[in-house]
Amino acid sequence: VYNFSAGPAVLPVSVIKKMQAEQPSFKDSGMSVLEISHRSSLYEEMFHQAKSDLRKLMKIPDTYEILFQQGGATLQFTATALNLATKQKRIGLIDSGHWSQRAGQEAQLVGVEVDPVASGQASGYTELPYQLNLTGAYDYLHITTNNTIEGTMYRRLPATEGNLLVGDMSSNILGQSYDVNDFGLIYAGAQKNIGPAGLTIVIVKKDLLGQAQALPAMLDYSKQAKKDSALNTPPVFAIYAAGLVFKWLLDLGGVAAMQKRNEKKAALLYDYLDNSTLFKPAVTKVSDRSTTNVPFMTGDEALDARFIEEATAQGLLNLKGHRLVGGMRASLYNAFPYEGVEALVAFMEKFAKTVGE
Ligand code: PLP
Repeated sequence: VYNFSAGPAVLPVSVIKKMQAEQPSFKDSGMSVLEISHRSSLYEEMFHQAKSDLRKLMKIPDTYEILFQQGGATLQFTATALNLATKQKRIGLIDSGHWSQRAGQEAQLVGVEVDPVASGQASGYTELPYQLNLTGAYDYLHITTNNTIEGTMYRRLPATEGNLLVGDMSSNILGQSYDVNDFGLIYAGAQKNIGPAGLTIVIVKKDLLGQAQALPAMLDYSKQAKKDSALNTPPVFAIYAAGLVFKWLLDLGGVAAMQKRNEKKAALLYDYLDNSTLFKPAVTKVSDRSTTNVPFMTGDEALDARFIEEATAQGLLNLKGHRLVGGMRASLYNAFPYEGVEALVAFMEKFAKTVGE
């Protein structure tokens, strides 16, 4: 089967096999990774290796701390506001769709003023806003680099006029190259391009830590940094799996190589969509198209439902689109193979013929 899920997403087959091979005795300890202590050297070695491999992959300078957190990207909507929106208590929100709006709503809940400095609303979020209307001082601007639901992705970042940038990279981290130096903080849930759910990556400039006072410990980045992300019991298995994925990525040539692969996969699907008389891509502006999430539809809900049902029967799984966009969505994250896109396009061609298009 081919799993087109938007997350939790497909993992590399070689990683799954390695995880199986290394159980039930991890590194001859007689214990499974699921059982080892987070205070053991077995864990510590694994944690530091994963951290340094991620640093290598994203070229993260030493001036940035890498935290392995929990609570998903959703908890980071809150945590970033609590830790960084401390002076003005005001942030600028680049509204590129559902997840960016969620980030703004959660920041508001902890008393932060959210100024929508740009919005893709006029295009129905099929195009990205680049022009920012900045007024006054902000603690940071928030950007969602890839919009998982709407299928748009920033290839170049908007001009921030010296403001700090916070990026939610949940759905294209390690799949698209960005310069970490352009951001004060980056966060991402792991369950798309990194590993199992339960791990959340936070990359934060060290000089931004320690501004906030009296935060709950789990939400306090500086306390988490001091304790090497093991303030409480960390998600050991998720960190282990992420570490294996980082090695897999390094072996394949890193983020630049992955970006090329993702571009090739998305191009194959978009070439078909742009020439199809039955299927239409939701995002028509080529430069704003995501390489990891591709929404499309026929325009006829009943036909979409039939397509999804027949595709599922052929082993093309999880193609149902998000309810906000409807239709179908093919998520083509790093571990998703090119052959899966070929299989999808072949099936779409066949389906189009059976309905007379
Ligand atoms: N941000 C983006 C861009 C997402 O795609 C998602 C989930 O799909 C989230 C945030 C929420 O992530 P989590 O489930 O890790 O809280």
